[in-house]
Amino acid sequence: MSEEWHALRRLRCDLATRREAGLERKRHTVDGPCGPRPLIDGRPLLAFASNDYLGLAGHPQVARAASEAALLYGVGAGASHLISGHHVLHDALEQRLAQWIGLPRALTFSAGYMANAAALTVLAQRHGEIFADRLNHASLNDGARLARARLVRYGHGDLAQLERLLAASRALCKIIATDAVFSMDGDIAPLPELLALCERYDAWLYVDDAHGFGVLGEGRGTLAHFRLASPRIVYMATLGKAAGVAGAFVAGAEEVMETLLQQAHSYIYTTAQPPLLAAALLAALDVMAAEPQRRVALMRRIDMLRSAARPRRGKLLESSTPIQPLVLGDAAAAVEVAEQLGQRGIWVPAIRPPTVPSGTARLRISLSAAHGEADVLALCGALNELA
Ligand SMILES: *Cc1c(COP(=O)(O)O)cnc(C)c1O
Repeated sequence: MSEEWHALRRLRCDLATRREAGLERKRHTVDGPCGPRPLIDGRPLLAFASNDYLGLAGHPQVARAASEAALLYGVGAGASHLISGHHVLHDALEQRLAQWIGLPRALTFSAGYMANAAALTVLAQRHGEIFADRLNHASLNDGARLARARLVRYGHGDLAQLERLLAASRALCKIIATDAVFSMDGDIAPLPELLALCERYDAWLYVDDAHGFGVLGEGRGTLAHFRLASPRIVYMATLGKAAGVAGAFVAGAEEVMETLLQQAHSYIYTTAQPPLLAAALLAALDVMAAEPQRRVALMRRIDMLRSAARPRRGKLLESSTPIQPLVLGDAAAAVEVAEQLGQRGIWVPAIRPPTVPSGTARLRISLSAAHGEADVLALCGALNELA
């Protein structure tokens, strides 16, 4: 074959267009354990990039639990939960998670992305409507699409618009789906007001607490932060962020969880996570409960950043969580500032459209209990000197 295949040529053109628009995504290779000082592309940098908010990803007690479980039980689960992959460690983890969150039952998943797909497809079915905050994580939107439900998006935090949309809906099954802590903005969703709307318009409240679990509400998450409880709430949190390991869980009423187990494809048709990860997570939950000082340290780092950062470029968004975004506007500006920080030995990732709305490219600073005070001061010093 002499002619180049047209389909490959088209992909190459699309890639070039993306690159020229400054939207090419690149991976950086990390060496060493997850922590404030990884080797990135071989260079030691001070990093404000991970979601390991409590510093558990590299915690020796968690790592030891994983390696001991590997020696006892091997590495793979061998099958899906409904065939022969459901291990006693998975069972113990589900019970601990339900207890920690204060909901009747929990079911674990291999990833938050899969948990969102499961819960939204099963709750909404085909004729449901999912009302979604415009800044929700992409996995919630994908879950709604997989459900083939109608996806209705409302402006970020716009409760009045949401109420008009709910009032106009004739769907028999309605779901309000929201990030509890918005992943790129760091602000907290008004969950009490959203639950009141669910009660008024007979809807479920689906809460994605990827960034609140372990951090807010004494570590029990955003429901505890607001002291919310209702059979209408279906709760999801990921276990690869503050919990430091991997995976996710959905929790809620017994009927909801049993329906997920019976019907959710992303639960049924996938291999169970290695039991050693459940062992690591049980250890991470032990540390979370036994070491509240980690959350205290994290909150101190957040306060310190907010009082010491006076960036000459960009605008630090209002946020009381470990996600502290510095909005710079266009993608090129965000990349340029990230590079300037890189020259000073600091790594903060630039987040560009379509992950965030166009015109709001930003640096997503994320703080961890593993950062020292000097680390935060070094970051603030660099931000304040940026040209
Ligand atoms: C990270 C994230 C997810 C996906 O979780 P994974 O376990 O990484 O697949 C879902 N929702 C939100 C808001 C997230 O930040």
